Amino acid sequence: MSFYVTTPIYYVNAAPHLGHAYTSIAADVLARHHRMRGEETFFLTGVDEHGEPVTLAAAAAGVSPQELVDANAERFRALTGMLELSNDFFIRTTDADHKRLVAEFLQRVYDNGHVYEGFYEGWYCPRCADFKTESEIGPGNSCPIHLIELVRERERTWFFRLSAFQERLERLYAERPDFVMPVHAFNEVRSFVAQGLVDISLTRQALSWGVAVPWAPDHTFYVWFDALLNYVTALGYARPGESLERLWPAQLQLIGKDISKFHAIYWPALLMAGGMEPPCQLFVHGFLLGPDEAKMSKSRGNVLDPFSIIESHGADALRHYLFREVTFGQDGPVSQEGFQARYDAELANEYGNLASRTLNMLGRYCDGRVPAVATDERLRAQFAGLFARVDELLARAEISAALEEIWQHVRRLNRYVEENAPWALARDPAARERLTEVLASLAEGLRAVTVALLPYMPLRTAVLLDALGAGEHTERTFGASGWGRPVSAIAPLFPRSA
Ligand SMILES: [Zn+2]
Repeated sequence: MSFYVTTPIYYVNAAPHLGHAYTSIAADVLARHHRMRGEETFFLTGVDEHGEPVTLAAAAAGVSPQELVDANAERFRALTGMLELSNDFFIRTTDADHKRLVAEFLQRVYDNGHVYEGFYEGWYCPRCADFKTESEIGPGNSCPIHLIELVRERERTWFFRLSAFQERLERLYAERPDFVMPVHAFNEVRSFVAQGLVDISLTRQALSWGVAVPWAPDHTFYVWFDALLNYVTALGYARPGESLERLWPAQLQLIGKDISKFHAIYWPALLMAGGMEPPCQLFVHGFLLGPDEAKMSKSRGNVLDPFSIIESHGADALRHYLFREVTFGQDGPVSQEGFQARYDAELANEYGNLASRTLNMLGRYCDGRVPAVATDERLRAQFAGLFARVDELLARAEISAALEEIWQHVRRLNRYVEENAPWALARDPAARERLTEVLASLAEGLRAVTVALLPYMPLRTAVLLDALGAGEHTERTFGASGWGRPVSAIAPLFPRSA
């Protein structure tokens, strides 16, 4: 059983922002979850470095395109560290191996008869690096995404015979109703295809910053083809012994809805043209919006800055907030105030306080050890389905729903403390047995929710498991651990903000 998950590769021209962090954290939660289940897991992210916008920005900055992408790629690589991503590889499309493998793959597409020469004329958005079809043109010949005027371009090009894949794509969509999730995103893709596919430009003649076309060296491949192919080229050189056969098709490719046309239509067609299987599933996530539900932008002043949150509250707090606040797959607002409220209520109070109380009571009433007694039968019953339910939800990339399931168990433990009032039991010598049962159950419940939270908050959960004497005990069960282990007091996991 293997699990291969990807993020889109991020275009290096933009500065890393919350949107990049969001997709990357989602992929990381899933990768960590599958690794914990013992599956062979590969998590790929990286950057897209070719195309016209890079050459324009480099010219404006008075540097070479390579110098520009070298500097910008580092900012994205740094982001992976700050977010605590467990990616197995960071691909750059200027990697020599990537370029070689792109040329090989597309030569095969050419040899298979899916490419022909012609002229392309149409409305082009230089920021999207995309020719627009009639239905994608905004008022006054503008790009509906960038709100800039489109440019009329005519150039010699090699076309990819996308129209020839209409039927095969429609068959793929019909046979695999979960090929694109959520369903509303899939419906948009299917209705776009139902309008009829036209052949698309595979190469550009005017642009030298890209992968040279082997059969027409004065052309480079259109940046989207070069970028899409990263998902398979990476497996050819990411690490020794890695192979396409072992990991392809990818189980899950996470994308934003602005790039679903490329991933749900062009990408499977391109793979078919090269004799490869399409990925198993694409998951289209929504957008994080400003507090007023408007698109985040510096000019509106509604940007939630991931870097300042990580600096003040740590990566775990950001990771927790994004999936608690907005249901993964939908659009939703986030804000600094919203972050603060959830941090205080859920991390500092519900979870952090539960951890501190539990460790303190074990110290005070049980000589700093988890009592080696059986756990409470009722609590055991309430925790029995937790991991199976989390597995089931995360198998569908329902990252928020799985976190909610875990959080209900955090709340259950807080109620368990109130219901059983260990401090009162401690005053009654006759209740000694019940006290040890309650505290052993609480320790085990805390261990279980913390193990479930590991993929979401890898840093603080590891600290807490160590304090519980359970650093190595990451069994995804309740009540199965051998106890009697010493615990240690720790500083608050999530200190209340000043
Ligand atoms: Zn555009």
